[in-house]
Amino acid sequence: MTSEKKDIRALSKEELRDFFMSIGDQAFRGNQVYEWLWTKGLHSFDAMTNISKETRAHLEANFVINHIKVDSLQKSKDGTVKNAVKLHDGLVVESVLIPTKKRTTACVSSQVGCSLDCKFCATARLKRMRNLNPDEIYDQVVAIDKESRLYHDRPLSNIVFMGMGEPLMNYKNVLEAIDKITSEEGLGMSPKRITLSTSGVPKMIKKLADDKVKFHLAVSLHSAIQETREQIMPFAKSFHLTDLRESLEYWYEKTNRRITYEYIVWGGINDTTEAIEALVRFCNYVPCKVNLIEYNPIDDGEFQQAPDRVIQSYITALEKNRIPVTVRRSRGKDIDAACGQLANKQ
Ligand code: SAH
Repeated sequence: MTSEKKDIRALSKEELRDFFMSIGDQAFRGNQVYEWLWTKGLHSFDAMTNISKETRAHLEANFVINHIKVDSLQKSKDGTVKNAVKLHDGLVVESVLIPTKKRTTACVSSQVGCSLDCKFCATARLKRMRNLNPDEIYDQVVAIDKESRLYHDRPLSNIVFMGMGEPLMNYKNVLEAIDKITSEEGLGMSPKRITLSTSGVPKMIKKLADDKVKFHLAVSLHSAIQETREQIMPFAKSFHLTDLRESLEYWYEKTNRRITYEYIVWGGINDTTEAIEALVRFCNYVPCKVNLIEYNPIDDGEFQQAPDRVIQSYITALEKNRIPVTVRRSRGKDIDAACGQLANKQ
């Protein structure tokens, strides 16, 4: 049920302080409530024990505390955990906990559905319903951190924005969420442990550079040939590779941080020598590394992962040009938790 009352978690600390002053209370009350909401993660006014009963009633009358609810949880044989996350208005997104020997990574969503139209991605078929709020993004991370402690006896170590949605099409909220995640009042995580993955929105990549963000950037490239990229990612007609390249040069100039290119190799699409050479050329523009990712089939077989020997040709060509390359194997495939499989099937 949606409410007329305002979501108190949509207020910044400054706004909370202003609110308390406006009702003739003291500004520091805002700090106290902020701490309950964010550092302590409370979801009820009643439990805010250092706030007077009267004030709590006043808050109750004016605000709600919206928050997510992990609706169902699926565990994969490989330890991957997928959460179906219910939002306050009943919509659902998914987020994933991916454990490896050395780290536990949260893969979080930034939109309900997606603004873009990548043909190989299950989420793209859902269309974009709405952007997630900063607190809805933050809450996914908190939920996965708890699960990490519960199931793997260690806190979350990394975050990737590779769930549902295009984070750069929800720029403001994603950055606000990252601010909370990295602030001492939030989770105090280092931005170096966060990677934002984008399909490649040049204007917003430049904005990230201007905003001097401290996290890592990954770009889902999949082809360095304009024509091919347009076929598999139709939005690329409006976001041309030459503009993408220019924005990445700008990013590097301002941040000095190299970019990761995510790249799937499909038979009949980008399995040619020409495709490999184009990628090598593209990689020479800006310091980068390439992550060759395993394709997770989503349905009818229009897209098929290329055979290993083609992947090997990519690796050989990249290594010959001293471009670091890794191969990422899928995790959580048995529960549809792998990249590109998030589509609220349940
Ligand atoms: N919109 C952002 C983040 C979400 S997708 C982006 O495009 O980067 C996260 C990653 O999963 C991207 O690299 C995307 O290209 C990849 N992906 C999408 N569908 C996939 C599939 N079926 N198999 C493997 N990876 C997929």
